[in-house]
Amino acid sequence: EKQQQQQQKGMRLGKYELGRTLGEGNFGKVKFAKNTESGADFAVKILDKKHILDLNITNQIKREIGTLKLLRHPNVVRLHEVLASKTKIYMVLELVIGGELFERIDFKGRLSEIEGRKLFQQLIDAVGYCHEKGVYHRDLKPENVLLDAKGNIKISDFGLSALPQHVRGDGLLHTTCGSPHYVAPEVLANRGYDGSTSDLWSCGVILYVILTGYLPFDDKNLAVLYHKIFRGDAPLPKWLSSGAQNLIRRILDPNPKTRITIVGIKEDEWFKQDYTPTNVED
Ligand code: ADP
Ligand code: MG
Repeated sequence: EKQQQQQQKGMRLGKYELGRTLGEGNFGKVKFAKNTESGADFAVKILDKKHILDLNITNQIKREIGTLKLLRHPNVVRLHEVLASKTKIYMVLELVIGGELFERIDFKGRLSEIEGRKLFQQLIDAVGYCHEKGVYHRDLKPENVLLDAKGNIKISDFGLSALPQHVRGDGLLHTTCGSPHYVAPEVLANRGYDGSTSDLWSCGVILYVILTGYLPFDDKNLAVLYHKIFRGDAPLPKWLSSGAQNLIRRILDPNPKTRITIVGIKEDEWFKQDYTPTNVED
């Protein structure tokens, strides 16, 4: 095993030297990587193609990954390049070292409205930016929200849900066993939906979890859970400020047609406090 470890440690990927495993998802692994020319550190997400019949990356997938490479926002994990071998796809990502937002909430129980608002503002900035570029996340949940060394948000996996499942490598597991707690009612109903309003719903669930430390909709029984999501009446604890309660209620509106939009959120009194919109270059 030691020999295997050593082999893995010295594994090369073009100009990158791959190092230790940073995390594991249901698709494969994320490994530390060093660019041996510049010395810069990255994270490489390794997607296994071994279950795919067609091992060629189609032009459509190449185009979609091309779009993801254009996303440049301080609160979105940057995709630097994509490399491919016969059996694997390697996504060279910005290295994020502060852990998952989930761990931060878990550690503190819940976050204060001041800290929580700052993170939520970053989340909405990033989601708004990607939507403007026509990219929807479709799988926003605290596990996909990482924190950098300064404690700022970095959304990972943006746009990946739009890619065919065999490229993401997460297969059926993702769609059938993935956490439904963050999914908008119109997505559950499978009635055809708009990526922007359903991403916002997920942001509302995340805001709820940040501020309370627990899920707005939960039940062991999936049918009961779905029913709660369809009704959209999350219990709002009295100790939450009325401003926060009001915003959560307007985001967790089961009707996507009347649900608050990004523009509306940015005009909300609770949201606007201590808000400095992020500057993006392009
Ligand atoms: P999945 O969505 O399939 O669970 P993720 O893309 O979330 O996989 O990655 C799994 C884990 O790898 C994450 O929980 C995180 O710990 C780590 N990870 C993912 N992306 C990065 C990154 N850019 N920098 C550092 N660690 C990462
Ligand atoms: Mg993920």
